[in-house]
Amino acid sequence: MDSVSSIEVPCTRDSKVLDDGSPRIEASRSRQAADLLRACVHCGFCNSACPTYKVTGDELDGPRGRLYLIGRLIEGQGSPQRALRHLDRCLTCRACEGVCPSGVRYARLLDYGRERVEATRPLRGRLLRRLLCLCLGSRRFLAPGVAALRVARPLLPGRYRRLLPPRTAAARPVSRSRERRRMLLFEGCVQPVLAPSINLAAARLFGHLGIAVPRVRGEGCCGALHYHLGFPRQALRRARANLDAWWPWLQGGGADALVVTASGCAAMIRDYPRLLKDEPDYAGRAAVAAGLLMDPVQVLADLELSGPRRLGRGPRRVALHVPCTQAHALALPTQVGELMQRMGFELTPNSSVGDCCGSAGAYSLLHPRMAGALRTRRLEALTVGQAQCIATANIGCLLHLRRGTPLPVLHWLELLAPLLDR
Ligand code: SF4
Ligand code: SF4
Repeated sequence: MDSVSSIEVPCTRDSKVLDDGSPRIEASRSRQAADLLRACVHCGFCNSACPTYKVTGDELDGPRGRLYLIGRLIEGQGSPQRALRHLDRCLTCRACEGVCPSGVRYARLLDYGRERVEATRPLRGRLLRRLLCLCLGSRRFLAPGVAALRVARPLLPGRYRRLLPPRTAAARPVSRSRERRRMLLFEGCVQPVLAPSINLAAARLFGHLGIAVPRVRGEGCCGALHYHLGFPRQALRRARANLDAWWPWLQGGGADALVVTASGCAAMIRDYPRLLKDEPDYAGRAAVAAGLLMDPVQVLADLELSGPRRLGRGPRRVALHVPCTQAHALALPTQVGELMQRMGFELTPNSSVGDCCGSAGAYSLLHPRMAGALRTRRLEALTVGQAQCIATANIGCLLHLRRGTPLPVLHWLELLAPLLDR
C-alpha cells in the first residue's frame, strides 16, 4: 500500500488552499478527485472488508456506495445531507484500500467528499465537534476534567463510571549511565492523561536497551482529532507546534528516531508532509519528522530484545487487537504479534487482524450505536481463545475496548516492559 505521504494529489485541506476558495481552485480539486475516482471499477470487493457495511448491509455504508456519493458531489449532483450522513459513518479505517484490486485511494477521496459536505452540517453537530476537540485535544482541559471526575466517581451513575478509566500506576523509567542512542517519545494529548503508564513502559524498555528518551517541551496533540472532525486549520496549527518542538532535536541528528506509541497519532504524523507541503517553513521539517517516525515495534525488533523471557505471574495468553491505523495506515499488521511470540507470549487465534473496533478517534462518542456494535463483534472475535488479557497499540482502541469487556485491556508495551525489569 502507498504510504499516505507518498500520494501526490494535493491535500484539499491544506492551509493555502483553505484560504483560497476560488472557482479555479475548486475546479482543480474536483478534477483531481475525478482522476482518483476513475480508478474505481465498481467491483465491490471493498464492501467485504468494510466494518460499517457489515453492520448495516446498506450499500451507501460501504466504500463503493460512498465513492458513488462522492462522484455525485464531483458532478455537482446528489444530496449533500445524504452524503454527509454516510460519509460521517465511515471510520476512516482504510480496510477497503487494502483489498481494492485497482488501488483506489479511498482516504483521499473521503477527505475531498467530507470537505465538500462539511458546510451542510447542522449547527448542533458542529458545536459538539468543537467541544470534543476542545476537551480531548488539549491536556490543559482534559487533565483537570478527568481529575474532577475521578473525585466525583462514587457519585456518578454506573454507565458513566465505566467510561472513566482507572488511575494507572506505573514503574519509573530505567536510567542507564551508558545510553548509546537517543529517541524522542511522542506524548500526545489523551494518552498521558488517561494512560500515562504506556509511555512510561516504553521509556523503561528503551532504558533497558540503552536508549535515552529526552523530555520535549512544547509538543501536544498530533492534530488527528481536529483533522477528522472537520477543523483542518486547527490540525495544521498543532502539526506546526509539534514540528517546532521537535526540530531542535531532529535537525542535525540530535535524535535517532521519533517514536509514537499510539498508532492513530503515528498515522497522522506520517501524513504531515502531505498536509504541509505548500508551506516552505514546514515542508522540510515535516519530511524529516515523517522520515524518522517509528512505531516502537520497529525499534524493538531491531534490538537485542529477542528470545523468550520468563513471563512470571503476568498474563501469558494474549488476544492481540491490531488497530486499523497500525495495520493499514502504517502497514505493520503482523509485527507486534511476531515480537510478542518471540518473547514467549501465546497469542490466541485472531482471524480478523486490522478489523476496526469502532473507536476511530472521536467516532465512538459521535456514533455510539455503530461503535458499540463494532466493539461487540470485535470482542467476540478476540475472546474465542480464552485469553487472559487483550493487548493493543492505540489509546483510542484500548479505552473503547475496555468499556466492553471485563478482561484487562493493555498496550502491548505494558506487557513487555515487566519482562525486562526482572
Ligand atoms: S474501490 Fe476498489 S474494490 Fe471498491 S468498488 Fe472500486 S475498484 Fe472495486
Ligand atoms: S475506511 Fe473503513 S469504514 Fe470507511 S469505507 Fe473503508 S472500510 Fe468502510
